[in-house]
Amino acid sequence: KGSSRVAVKCVASPSVEQTAYTTKVARNENLAKLQAGYLFPEIARKRAAHMLKYPDAKVIPLGIGDTTERIPEVITTAMAERAKALSTKKGYSGYGAEQGEKQLRAAIASTFYQNLGIEEDDIFVSDGAKSDISRLQVLFGSKVSMAVQDPSYPAYVDSSVILGQTGLYQKDVERFAKIEYMRCTPENDFFPDLSNVARTDIIFFCSPNNPTGSAASREQLTQLVQFAKDNGSIIVYDSAYAMYVSEDKPRSIFEIPGAEEVALEVSSFSKYAGFTGVRLGWTVVPKQLKYSDGFPVANDFNRIVCTAFNGASNIAQAGGLACLSPEGIKAMHEVVGFYKENTKIIMDTFNSLGFNVYGGVNAPYVWVHFPGRSSWEVFGEILEKTHVVTTPGSGFGPAGEGFVRVSAFGNRENVLEACKRFKELYK
Ligand code: PLP
Repeated sequence: KGSSRVAVKCVASPSVEQTAYTTKVARNENLAKLQAGYLFPEIARKRAAHMLKYPDAKVIPLGIGDTTERIPEVITTAMAERAKALSTKKGYSGYGAEQGEKQLRAAIASTFYQNLGIEEDDIFVSDGAKSDISRLQVLFGSKVSMAVQDPSYPAYVDSSVILGQTGLYQKDVERFAKIEYMRCTPENDFFPDLSNVARTDIIFFCSPNNPTGSAASREQLTQLVQFAKDNGSIIVYDSAYAMYVSEDKPRSIFEIPGAEEVALEVSSFSKYAGFTGVRLGWTVVPKQLKYSDGFPVANDFNRIVCTAFNGASNIAQAGGLACLSPEGIKAMHEVVGFYKENTKIIMDTFNSLGFNVYGGVNAPYVWVHFPGRSSWEVFGEILEKTHVVTTPGSGFGPAGEGFVRVSAFGNRENVLEACKRFKELYK
């Protein structure tokens, strides 16, 4: 309700007091390789500075991509009941299975992977896709080589740097050494020219894509799976936005025949049911996916999950199960449908102003082109003149330069107001 609450988590690094004492522990050199800050905390910092400068401005956040709409009641009721039951002798439960509750794993398999050859025990329930991306990096270790779409969701590159898979950041080309950046721009329909992509062990691929909003076609994903097979690579497919697909495009990599031998998939309830704060996701690791020595990847992932994670919250899992009931699925489609209407409003606005606008149709992100301009400069201009927070495209990789991402996660009043301000600025 027009509240200007700012999420300040992770914004400022703890102030370093000037004391003479230091420990004898050397800083992890991989962390020192990271750039100024994770993109979104950096934006939050700029937003906080803007709010200090304009304390009375109504700042509209269409940047970070956090959900705003309430969780459907059929889902929160199930979580409340589970929470209440924890206070009873009969309903109490402690540690659960590290891989997730059997019923939820089965429901995920049958809801999202029906007839795709994925079984209940291929599903590992998590506290969100982001945590699983880092766990997957631990699984692969520091010696693997990595490819990412350029631009891409920053967690892939940053977790790779932290694990020590990369060289130093090279300022001149705005890339980390030893990462293969697969350029995705309007010229190639946001799908990399695989004939120009070097072989890597791991290929991160997100579709529908954050930030470009584009979704790969069946033909394109067939090419990707073939490319991985030819090279003996593993695809880490991120389907966090699969429910936003409207066109006839795959919602899972496992729709592509043979993908189970070369791919695993991370996904999440965050953007389907407003679970960004509840925290629940999953990773599919098919039994057929094997290392070069024939050992199943799933067995090692199970080991990582048991070592580094004690399973998702039982309350969150009760919510997940409710999401996958018939009423829950209907409610999730309504949440997704609401954000898709927002997306259309934003797309229509930028189209009417004469911009080239991408994404939006199969994803809650609109990718607006400002040819010849710096993304951070446009981000700054929009913030200064309209008090709307967007995300600079270059923050997602060098090929994002000249673009700005506008997120459709917002309440309707804010989205309409932001679009009105965009129209005034760019008329
Ligand atoms: N993957 C992509 C592509 C995302 O955009 C996000 C969140 O914005 C995530 C993963 C993280 O999802 P979760 O909230 O499940 O950690």
